[in-house]
Amino acid sequence: FENELTLLTYQQDGSEDEFHETYEAAVESVRADLGASHALRIDGDSIEAEDRFTVTSPGDFDLEIGEFAAGGEAEVDAAVSAAADAFPDWERRDVDSHTAVFRDAADRMRDRKFELAATLSLENGKNRTEAMADVDEAIDFLRFYSLELECSDGYQFNTGQPTPHQHTTNLLRPYGVFAVIAPFNFPLAILAGMTAGAMITGNTVVAKPASATPLIAHKYADILADAGIPDGVFNLVTGGGSTVGQPLTEHEDVAGVAFTGSREVGLDIERAFREQGKRGPVIAELGGKNPVIVSDEADLDGAVEGVAMGAFSFSGQKCSATSRVYVYENVYDEFTDRLVEATERLGIGRGERLDTVVNPVIDDSALERYRNITEQARTDGTIRTGGSVVDDDDLPEGRYVEPTVVTDIPHGHGLAREEHFLPFVTIHPVSDLQEGIAKSNDSDYGLCAGLFSEDDAEIDRWFHEIESGMCYVNRSQSATTGALVQAQPFGGWKFSGTTGKFAGGYWYLQQFLREQSRTRVE
Ligand code: GLU
Repeated sequence: FENELTLLTYQQDGSEDEFHETYEAAVESVRADLGASHALRIDGDSIEAEDRFTVTSPGDFDLEIGEFAAGGEAEVDAAVSAAADAFPDWERRDVDSHTAVFRDAADRMRDRKFELAATLSLENGKNRTEAMADVDEAIDFLRFYSLELECSDGYQFNTGQPTPHQHTTNLLRPYGVFAVIAPFNFPLAILAGMTAGAMITGNTVVAKPASATPLIAHKYADILADAGIPDGVFNLVTGGGSTVGQPLTEHEDVAGVAFTGSREVGLDIERAFREQGKRGPVIAELGGKNPVIVSDEADLDGAVEGVAMGAFSFSGQKCSATSRVYVYENVYDEFTDRLVEATERLGIGRGERLDTVVNPVIDDSALERYRNITEQARTDGTIRTGGSVVDDDDLPEGRYVEPTVVTDIPHGHGLAREEHFLPFVTIHPVSDLQEGIAKSNDSDYGLCAGLFSEDDAEIDRWFHEIESGMCYVNRSQSATTGALVQAQPFGGWKFSGTTGKFAGGYWYLQQFLREQSRTRVE
């Protein structure tokens, strides 16, 4: 298995210019096709709904992405019933016929990767590097899960003969219909990862994409259809959280849920699911408040670059974004000054522009949250750079905000405790590793964590004591962000995840399955 890593491949070939030209041509061609109307996808058919909603680009309100059907209870019902009808036949297919669809879909995504990346830039504002990484990750998920299933022989083991006349097979079997609720921030990779995980193991799916990113979800549905997914195995219902998400996850015929999003919504889903008396899985990835420690034994260049990218790439709208930094007192001033300088050099702009690192934030509620937390930071701490909504006549009308570095926030303050999902990072002095680890661990979350240090003893101790699913040392490109499928399985401890098994890892698929032991006496 090899990760896709498109941009790196072009850089290694010395053909980075070709990457940019191809991407820019794709942006033009995707832009020319925007504004179409899209129905729901139920049982292989396009189904209209009475209500519709319009999506505009977060970086340019004049750019209409499209008009989308807004589903409701009746459409959720129809989709769940199509998925339930498709289940018996899909479940009984063998491993090769399951993986063939996803291997084919991965190839189709690869053929269309520039178009898909351009779509992401326009629809959710990602810059080209991040957008291509999202597409690469989607391809990697489909290939890795196919490989996983093939290598495990579909999780079916002949356990032999317990007594001379008994033959036993032990196997894992799917549950039935999965509701999949996907986020806006990796609207292809995470949608593809969760839905493929459910379907490749024999379940059928009704998926709801984030309201801000339905177009890329439709392209994914097209790719699955072209790859031969049978009718009813994958259904797509666009619409709101309360009108589609809630009736879907609470539908009596839904056997399991896969969700990536906020802790609040994820826990509500799990609670409602259990209150119905259901025993199936709720596989949820619920965010983070990811700490980084910068030691006085760190390479400060790497630490500054890593934190700037970890906190501000895709405007901090990642569960993995670096959001609190604990710096040894004797390098605190130098590190903070240099982080402020590095932050002020970051390009703010539309995703598809070459020099953009900090892209627009996704919706009005993100903008409102940004206004609130910067206001609070101004009162309760010191804003070292940023803190304002961008007012620049050269930018189109969109949701542009400044990447923000804050100091002097007391430990335990909400700004350093709650997930904001914005380009906002707090910096705190600590006297040593022990204090850095204690403060890092004093959190409900445990998704990603980082350490910058060249000292082996510090590194060993940190790996052992940090309470975090994903632990990165000296990651100067991206600090706590940018996990690669298979190489760095992605998931969290504590409130960051409900099952503790990681996407793109070896135990992920088993969560979509239940065990059965079959004995036959002859
Ligand atoms: N997998 C992404 C990363 O490693 C983050 C996914 C998320 O934000 O949900 O940066």
